[in-house]
Amino acid sequence: MLEDLERAYQNALAELDEVADQDALEAWRVRHLGRKAPLMRAYGRLRDLPPEERPQVGRRINAMRDHLQNAYEAKAHALREAALRRSLEEERIDVTLPGRPKPIGRLHPTTRTIRHIVRIFQDMGFQVFRSREVETDEYNFQLLNIPPHHPARDMQDTFYVRTPGAQEGETPPVVLRTHTSPGQIHAMRFYASLNPENPPPIRVVLPGMVFRYEQITARSEIQFTQVEGLVVGRNISFADLKGTLNEWARRMFGQHVRTRFRASYFPFTEPSAEMDVECFLCGGKGCPVCKYTGWLEVLGSGMVHPVVLKNGGYDPEKFTGFAFGMGPERITMLRHGIKDIRFFWSNDVRLLEQF
Ligand SMILES: [Zn+2]
Repeated sequence: MLEDLERAYQNALAELDEVADQDALEAWRVRHLGRKAPLMRAYGRLRDLPPEERPQVGRRINAMRDHLQNAYEAKAHALREAALRRSLEEERIDVTLPGRPKPIGRLHPTTRTIRHIVRIFQDMGFQVFRSREVETDEYNFQLLNIPPHHPARDMQDTFYVRTPGAQEGETPPVVLRTHTSPGQIHAMRFYASLNPENPPPIRVVLPGMVFRYEQITARSEIQFTQVEGLVVGRNISFADLKGTLNEWARRMFGQHVRTRFRASYFPFTEPSAEMDVECFLCGGKGCPVCKYTGWLEVLGSGMVHPVVLKNGGYDPEKFTGFAFGMGPERITMLRHGIKDIRFFWSNDVRLLEQF
C-alpha cells in the first residue's frame, strides 16, 4: 500500500512541475488533494493494516499530504506573481507622457476690468457698496433730479414692470435700473441713518449691472455694467474730483497717461464733466480707435447736485460731494480692441479664452 502511495506522490510532484496556469492547478488539486485522491482515500484504509504498522504509515501519509499541500501553495503563489508581472508588462503606463489638459475656467473680461477698477479705488480708501438691480421709478429717476417727462429719460428708456392693479397709462413705478446712480441715494440714506444729526463722510464705489431698452448693435446692448463712485463730505471740491480721477487713470492706464475734462451735463451733478484719457493705443498720436483725436472718453463725473444731496439726507449747506460713472465694457473694448459689444454676452469661448 505504501509503495502505491509513494508512486502516486512522486507522480503528483512531477505533474505539479508541469502546471502552468490556474485552471491546471485547480485540476491538480482535485486530483491529488481532493477527497477522491489516492492519498486521501488511504486514510480510510489504515484500519485494514495490522495495528503495529498503522502509526508509521499514518505519519508517512501525513508527511506526504503536508508536502503536497505546501508545494501546491508555493505553485499558486508563483502563478499569481507571474500573472502580475505579465499584466504590469503588458499594461505598462508610460508616466512620462504629458497629461491630458483640463480646461480651466477664468473670469469674464468685464469682471476682470471691474475688479481692476474697484481695486484701485479700494487702495484709495473707497468701500464697495452693492445696490439693487430692480428699482422704483422714484430712486432710478426722481430722487436723482430727473422728474417725469425730463428729456434725460428718453436716453435711458428701460424695462418697466407693471405692478398688479396698475391702470393702463399710469407710470409704472418699478424698473430695471438704467444706471448705478440710484445706488448713490441708497448709500447716502444708509450712511445718514447711522447718525442723522451729523452724517458721516462717504467714499464708495458701486459696481453692477444696468439695463436699457436699446436696439442691439455692435455699440449698444440692453444690459451692461457700470462702476459708479460717490464721495460726500465737508469741503469736497472739484479739485478733489480731478485729483482722485487723475490718480485712478494713472493707476489704470499707466503712470504717464494724460487726462482732460470737458464740460458736460447730467441732471444729478452740477457742474458736470466728461473725462478723456490720452489714447493708450497710439499714445495720443491718433489712430482708428480714438478716431484720430488722440483722446478716449472713459467716464462722466461732476459735483453732486444739491437736490440729490438733500434727497440722500445730507444738508447741501454743510456737505458737498462728487460722483462719477464709467462703463467697464467700454474700457475693456478699448484696451483689447474688441469691436463688438455683443461678444460679451454671446458666450463664445473663442473670445473668453483670450483672457
Ligand atoms: Zn489712438
